[in-house]
Order: sequence, then structure tokens, then C-alpha cells
Amino acid sequence: MTLSEKQRKFTVMVGELIRCASQMEYGLTFSWAYRDEEAQKRMVATGLSKTMQSKHLERLAVDFNLFIGGVYQTKKEAYEPLGVYWKSLDPQNRWGGDFQSLGDGNHFEYGG
Ligand SMILES: [Zn+2]
Repeated sequence: MTLSEKQRKFTVMVGELIRCASQMEYGLTFSWAYRDEEAQKRMVATGLSKTMQSKHLERLAVDFNLFIGGVYQTKKEAYEPLGVYWKSLDPQNRWGGDFQSLGDGNHFEYGG
């Protein structure tokens, strides 16, 4: 699969994730999706990311802000049902809540 094909597949799956969240009456807003190299360097410099290998640079990752009952959620546990659903969509999908380093519950990526 070419990178462009992976990006398009990722985008469709993000649509399914948004629909799932909506059906659970979860509210989502976008945080980061694509990041260019300069943005990623700033993230690493400020400790918000630990890698220049981020899937955000490849347009294969998205971060969401989650609201439940109108309340913004900061704990990764709140995102877990979405993480479980995300991983069910494709064996190459990874949820940031499983990452040991940052515990990035709002991060969803396609590893393919
Ligand atoms: Zn992210």
C-alpha cells in the first residue's frame, strides 16, 4: 500500500471512530492531526512528544479532545472505550493509551 493509500484508509477509519463516539454520546473536537517537521520539533523540544518518528508527520495519526456529559476529559481511562473500538477496526491500529512513555489517551494512529 502506498503512503497515500494508507492515509486515505486512515481517514475513513477516523470517520468510523467519530461515528462510534457520537453513538456513545461522547463529544469530540480535533486536536492535532497532521504535524509538519517544525511543529513536531517544537513538540519534542517542549516535552509534549518524545519522537521525530511520529505518525502525525505521515498524516497517519489524530488526537481528539473528549467530552462526556459536556465535561472535558483529561484521564486516559476515559478514552479507553474509543481505544478499544479503534483497535477493533484494523490490526495495525494503535491507541496512545497503550504507549508506556506518555500514556497518550487522546492519540489514535494507523501503524500500517
Ligand atoms: Zn498524537
